[in-house]
Amino acid sequence: MTTALLLGSYLLLAGSVLVPLLARAVWTQHTPRLALWLWHLLTGSLVLAAVLLGLALAMPRLPESTQPTGWFHACVLALQLAYTTPGGAALATLGLALAGLVLARACSSVLVEWYHTARQGRDHRQTLSVVGWWDERVAATVVEHATPVAYCLPGRTGDIVLSTAALQTLDDSERAAVLAHERAHLRGRHDLHRIWARGLERAFGCVAVFATGRAAVDRLTELVADDAGSRANGPLTVASAVLRLAQGNAPATGRAAAAAAGTATAARVRRLMDGPPPLSPWRLLVGALVVVVPAGFGIAAVTGSVLAGLACCPVH
Ligand SMILES: [Zn+2]
Repeated sequence: MTTALLLGSYLLLAGSVLVPLLARAVWTQHTPRLALWLWHLLTGSLVLAAVLLGLALAMPRLPESTQPTGWFHACVLALQLAYTTPGGAALATLGLALAGLVLARACSSVLVEWYHTARQGRDHRQTLSVVGWWDERVAATVVEHATPVAYCLPGRTGDIVLSTAALQTLDDSERAAVLAHERAHLRGRHDLHRIWARGLERAFGCVAVFATGRAAVDRLTELVADDAGSRANGPLTVASAVLRLAQGNAPATGRAAAAAAGTATAARVRRLMDGPPPLSPWRLLVGALVVVVPAGFGIAAVTGSVLAGLACCPVH
């Protein structure tokens, strides 16, 4: 029961303290790539903690054993034991239902999100093969459109798409910055980051944490791509290109595309022009806390689960 209390406390702490702290943390603008992975760690640890909480409720007293084999059968025996104790049946059923529901919902929702994204990307590629053409000069697909638009279609053959209006609107350096931005999306497989975050939001949309996490992942992937464009062409050039493209969005590509403009454009332009806000020692301390706690939990949870699986489930 101690394990269940610890896991429940972690869920409360992470949901009510760590997530709001990370959502407001200024340091994430300095290191968006680290912040991106930290969001995955944080939201992933919440799902893992909920599953482990269910298992801990179902098997409050794990028998001792050093035998690693036959653990599944042994865990069934442990469950049978839990069902024989007063109140154990209800608790074990509740725990197993919680663990199974959370795990099944997370896995199925991420898979559904991946399927829809892949299908939309495939449909959009088919459309592009009819209405677009390959332009060797910019190494991208070009479509005739009056709105300046630039986006990428991730996948095994990642494609960058520019509208004719974008080619006319952007000068050479801005176009190079936009292409560097889109290549960073493709290289970093930001589509997979977004699929994971949207999958968790789809699974647990009633929990605000996962919507916050999805919005953060969308924003941070843009910052990572902006930084790549800045390194190659300078931040002011990227800011100028983002502003020129701000009136356009990826046309009807939904979740499959990552446009160069459109996600928190004003904040991105301000960051590119002025640089990220300065960091105070207090903000650094809070930032370190938000990093260390979930990272420590993630490692402890995985290690503990492995050890528990090896040592706590008897063969006889
Ligand atoms: Zn982008």
